[in-house]
Amino acid sequence: MESVDVAVVGAGPAGCSAAREAADEKTVVVFEKGVRREDRDGVGPDSTDAAGFLDYWLEVADVSPEFFDEMPVLQEVERAELAGPTETATMRDTGISSWYDGFGFTFDRVAMDDLLRERAEERGAEFCVGETVRGVESFRTSGGYVHELTVAGGEEVRAETVILADGPSRRVTLPALAQFDESGVEDALNPRDANHIAYQEHRRFPDELFEDDVLRFRWGVIPGETAYPWYFPNDDNVARVGVTVPRGVGIDADDNEEYALLRDDGTTPAPSEYVRRYLEDEYPSYSLDDFPLAEERGKDGGTESYPISSTRPVESPARAGVLVAGGAMGATSAFHEGGYHVAMATGKAAGRVTAEDRVADYNDEWRDACGDELARNVGLARLVGGYTPDDWDALVSHAKAALEGGWLRRLRHAPAILLLQRRYSKARNGYVAVCEEDYEYSLPKRTK
Ligand SMILES: Cc1cc2nc3c(=O)[nH]c(=O)nc-3n(C[C@H](O)[C@H](O)[C@H](O)COP(=O)(O)OP(=O)(O)OC[C@H]3O[C@@H](n4cnc5c(N)ncnc54)[C@H](O)[C@@H]3O)c2cc1C
Repeated sequence: MESVDVAVVGAGPAGCSAAREAADEKTVVVFEKGVRREDRDGVGPDSTDAAGFLDYWLEVADVSPEFFDEMPVLQEVERAELAGPTETATMRDTGISSWYDGFGFTFDRVAMDDLLRERAEERGAEFCVGETVRGVESFRTSGGYVHELTVAGGEEVRAETVILADGPSRRVTLPALAQFDESGVEDALNPRDANHIAYQEHRRFPDELFEDDVLRFRWGVIPGETAYPWYFPNDDNVARVGVTVPRGVGIDADDNEEYALLRDDGTTPAPSEYVRRYLEDEYPSYSLDDFPLAEERGKDGGTESYPISSTRPVESPARAGVLVAGGAMGATSAFHEGGYHVAMATGKAAGRVTAEDRVADYNDEWRDACGDELARNVGLARLVGGYTPDDWDALVSHAKAALEGGWLRRLRHAPAILLLQRRYSKARNGYVAVCEEDYEYSLPKRTK
């Protein structure tokens, strides 16, 4: 059996960031199962083109201005439109400080993932792409812990530290963590009633409709917890138009009238049907044919989908050398999109503590790097959890008053805004679902 210091499962932003930091001092091997895309030769990480950053996310991801110059930026955006069923608020400033002067940008996800891999390889990390990890078994030894990975095809690898970065599918992470805790983690990371699917289409817009400097989100038009359509501009008049929808939410008769993207037929629309209706609603004098699919992009003919779970983050059984990062730990999920930066931040934290022989510090390290951002995401998700379309309109109209209103309007909305702020502060508390002390370390012993 081959032995390495560190085995990383998954070569997304979390895995590559971890590998680069760890490879400074350790032998590192990264296993990536390999996903095909229209816009990449061969297989690579699951780079679902999900790439927008707000200004302060660069700080969370610890991206320096020098590294930013290498990033494959597609569009600089100057505002986000946050819409409810009938109201829209425009945000031009996140209010959080950053060295980056603009509001945000979109980037080429495939090129960015490849860049992170190159940077890890430069430091000596070895990548095994097209190799799926089937499982991880952990043991106590006389000196600490050891982890044995089984790779599809039967190969086995032994590692002192394993960094689990297999994204929101968590097929390796869940059983690996269950060795330390038989039920809590599974319930926390795999809630049966809140699994979502993100689906998007790369569509080429007519010149007069393509806007390259705005991100758009619209809430309260699809039933289900934090379900919504969005618009993200990429290059060459192509925008990514997509939806996040919960799996298995049935539509009942009352919903038909309440939600703008439902129709009177009582059926649950497929994600692609939601996208079609969104475009119809936003651009009523155009037809779908005016927005042809950019079939050379995405995973499959200009489309792609990706599982996500609306979960809270978990800590890792770090002192045993099992570190979970990014989507695998639920760090990127509570409010769905907005995870590349925390994937990088948690990955870097995992790699850094490994390189410096202080794996037990991992949970403190990632909290320092992005705990505030995770609490913000969990707080927001909890705040809007049971919102109806009317609640969304009310929220957006308060946001509009706060962001764009004159003093009189702001004054009128002040009591509601204060109440929301109080609820939100409360909702941020206890944002971690499983803490390190919840784990048990009574693993089988390996004597040789
Ligand atoms: C539609 C959509 C829009 C989004 N928009 C944004 C956005 O605008 N900005 C933003 O910052 N974030 C966005 N996100 C979130 C962002 O894409 C994720 O948070 C991020 O990819 C998480 O990184 P990760 O490295 O943890 O996981 P992933 O990127 O999912 O990487 C995990 C990797 O592990 C591999 N893997 C899985 N199982 C195995 C196995 N058994 N063996 C080997 N390899 C395995 C997978 O193939 C994959 O490459 C969006 C997500 C979606 C779905």
